[in-house]
Amino acid sequence: MIIDCHGHFTTVPPAHKQWREAQLVAWEAGLEPPPYPHIADADITGAITQGQLAMMDERGIDVTIFSPQASAMGHHRGDAVVSREWTRRCNDLIARVIGLFPGRFAGVCQLPQSVADPIGGCVEELRRCVSELGFIGANLNPDPSGGDWNAPPLTDRSWYPLYDALVELDVPAMIHVSGSSNPHVHTTGAYYIAADTIAFMQLVQSRLFADFPKLRFVIPHGGGAAPYHWGRYRGLAAMLDQPPLDANVLTNVFFDTCVYHQPGIDLLCEVIPSQNILFGSEMIGAVRGVDSRSGHHFDDTRRYVEATSLDDRAKRAVFEQNIYRVYPRLGAVLHRSDPYRRTTRAAG
Ligand SMILES: [Zn+2]
Repeated sequence: MIIDCHGHFTTVPPAHKQWREAQLVAWEAGLEPPPYPHIADADITGAITQGQLAMMDERGIDVTIFSPQASAMGHHRGDAVVSREWTRRCNDLIARVIGLFPGRFAGVCQLPQSVADPIGGCVEELRRCVSELGFIGANLNPDPSGGDWNAPPLTDRSWYPLYDALVELDVPAMIHVSGSSNPHVHTTGAYYIAADTIAFMQLVQSRLFADFPKLRFVIPHGGGAAPYHWGRYRGLAAMLDQPPLDANVLTNVFFDTCVYHQPGIDLLCEVIPSQNILFGSEMIGAVRGVDSRSGHHFDDTRRYVEATSLDDRAKRAVFEQNIYRVYPRLGAVLHRSDPYRRTTRAAG
């Protein structure tokens, strides 16, 4: 089985996006947001069938771990109440996708972070998504400001209540920023990759996993610049009197394969132990075109992983087995026929 650990609902029905814009306009005007629109199942199935599912089938991907569009989380827009309501709508939409395509998607939630209150309401929404909607992980934004980096580092104790809940629920967090509010910093070309690297270095500088030995983070986009500069981080860990990376970070941190060319994937697989690599493509996402050199989509990352020098056992680990280890709730979700509908019926 091939499991993609990194997909977003980037093809949402237009009514969902239109409501978001209306919500923000209402907030600016000091008004209540309009009612959330009715979105028919057919609108969701159409978006998925013609989008993500078509590409999964074309590329031989069995399951995608699926979350709301990351660049649209917008934790820097509106206030905590706005973030909470938008987050619930986004997560509920993911739950509907899972219910409509049993066995093909597993849910990862957005968290209702905001600048004024980086983890306010996050534990409550995480519990709702895992316990009621059957989700198996969360996306954690290390910079809810959209580029000002004014929240405490991920290793600050203010994040600990969320980490307690992640450990208790046995779900990982993917460290994932949202849209950039700074025109100097392109969202997917600069901010995403920089944030991955920043988060990694925060972990190198800390001993967070001594406090949370069971906490698991996924750093997406191949770990940002970290694998490419692995010698720098090994050297800095020594200079900072920190334990070696494999004892202090790789115990709990995993990188996906959202790297869109063969030499990049080769480097990732050479530098990072295969047990720390999870297959991911972030399809349909940041880079949607076809590579004129290869004739294939840039984000068709299965091809690159297949072409590495990893042996068959390591490839199986990357494509499937590691993902079950990092997302232990995945198995139960895939073996339920219709987790969303069952949950809602049970909730009355
Ligand atoms: Zn992403």
